[in-house]
Amino acid sequence: MAWGPSGFQHYPWRKKLPLWKGLLVEVMLQRTRADQVAPSFRCLDSCFPTARSLRNMDESGARDLIGPLGLSWRIPLFVELCREIAEHGGRLPRDMSALQNLPGVGPYAAGAALSLHGETRAVIVDSNVVRVLCRFLGVPFDGETRRKKWVEEALEHLTPENDFRAFNYALLDLAMQVCRPRRPDCGICPLQTLCRTGSDVPVASGS
Ligand code: SF4
Repeated sequence: MAWGPSGFQHYPWRKKLPLWKGLLVEVMLQRTRADQVAPSFRCLDSCFPTARSLRNMDESGARDLIGPLGLSWRIPLFVELCREIAEHGGRLPRDMSALQNLPGVGPYAAGAALSLHGETRAVIVDSNVVRVLCRFLGVPFDGETRRKKWVEEALEHLTPENDFRAFNYALLDLAMQVCRPRRPDCGICPLQTLCRTGSDVPVASGS
């Protein structure tokens, strides 16, 4: 939490957004690098100023918007999601299970949308967060670990009641900048003294 502000990444969606727009950007961010998403988000932000304006979204528009991000299978789901949002005037349930019933919304997007844009406490379970958690605890992990019940339970236990937004941003940024997939930078990591994986690495001078 103390490290978070120093590592904070300034992406264009990291501002106050209505929940519906936050959900759309988190859907875009699934399995996609954040820097790739920035142009698509700017386009969404300027072309669709209200939830109701999403009723005009069709496959061609969705392809223009998120096609450059790859994963073309999500285009029809994105169209369906936009239409559902428009139909409800942008009023979405602040509830993990209910959000995951919407087209193309998985646990990552639901948790990120609620905690980062919906002022509702929720955990974020994605491969980056799982990597930090498992290294921290010194347990092996692979692509399936994020589906394990204990992972969600551990994050539930760790996530604070009130500062969950700052906590989740700090965790995401730490995963991206310090506890990277390859060659984690343990010497500058704020978790190093407690971490089972990084505690043998010398602390960087000045950190
Ligand atoms: S000390 Fe190293 S392995 Fe542990 S959380 Fe930090 S960067 Fe990751």
